[in-house]
Amino acid sequence: MQFVLQKGFSLFLPFLRRKSFHSQPKFVKHLNNMRVNILPALGDNYMYLLIDEKTREAAIVDPVEPNKVLTAVKAENVNLTTVLTTHHHWDHAGGNEELVKLVPNLTVVGGDERVGALNKKVSTGDQLTIGQMNVECLFTPCHTKGHICYYVTSKDNPNDDPLVFTGDTLFVSGCGKFFEGTPQQMHRALIDVLANLPLNTRVYCGHEYTVTNLKFANSVEPNNEDIINKLKWAQEMRSRNEPTVPSTIADENKTNPFMRVNVQSVQKHVNKGNDVIATMEELRHLKNNFRAD
Ligand SMILES: [Zn+2]
Repeated sequence: MQFVLQKGFSLFLPFLRRKSFHSQPKFVKHLNNMRVNILPALGDNYMYLLIDEKTREAAIVDPVEPNKVLTAVKAENVNLTTVLTTHHHWDHAGGNEELVKLVPNLTVVGGDERVGALNKKVSTGDQLTIGQMNVECLFTPCHTKGHICYYVTSKDNPNDDPLVFTGDTLFVSGCGKFFEGTPQQMHRALIDVLANLPLNTRVYCGHEYTVTNLKFANSVEPNNEDIINKLKWAQEMRSRNEPTVPSTIADENKTNPFMRVNVQSVQKHVNKGNDVIATMEELRHLKNNFRAD
């Protein structure tokens, strides 16, 4: 299905805009030398080619479709050195084994022994370097026991737009299911770890779930204008097969109910008083049973 991803192709071949069509690939240039190539994968996953433009060194986040990754690596003419795996689920780590056969000497990073081809196990605070970029590993267990988010800053411009790759922990206006963890752990991951990153941090998550997430957010806080406006924007983006990533931590604080468990309107909706953990648990329960129109 490589051909459907050529930019603009679907505009001329509307029959390809069936459910299996995901998004146009997109390049995002940040203020410094960091560049992200957004690579749609499978039905609604994202892989991200993270490039340091100064040295042309690159890392790939969750390369579930290795051939698509290699096409992008060749097109960008970069030196792919590192795989950043957020967690062991097949739709994130399932391409690792094949990719290490195709690209020699790859460092495969992850926080869980179940990650395919893992050769560098990391935990909180571990630091890596990709060219001039610094990558800090944030341990965020809950969706899975070994989930890692990757926080990326430029060594040259440490205050410029940091990036965070959040896998299935934080989505745009949502969060992952608590498969191997507790509401306490998700509260820690979202509120204590991710919400404490700089507000201008760009958020790149593992799936395109934004419209459904915002419909749920709207059901929790019907009067939240930020949610209404972002839902409208996201629906417009998706009608053109445009990705809704990146978000920012500032945006998530305003629109993501799971980041807003300490806000009165959210607490009122779930009716657990001011208990933020019980609110987190109930929100997840409500979202699991939520059906968007
Ligand atoms: Zn997952």
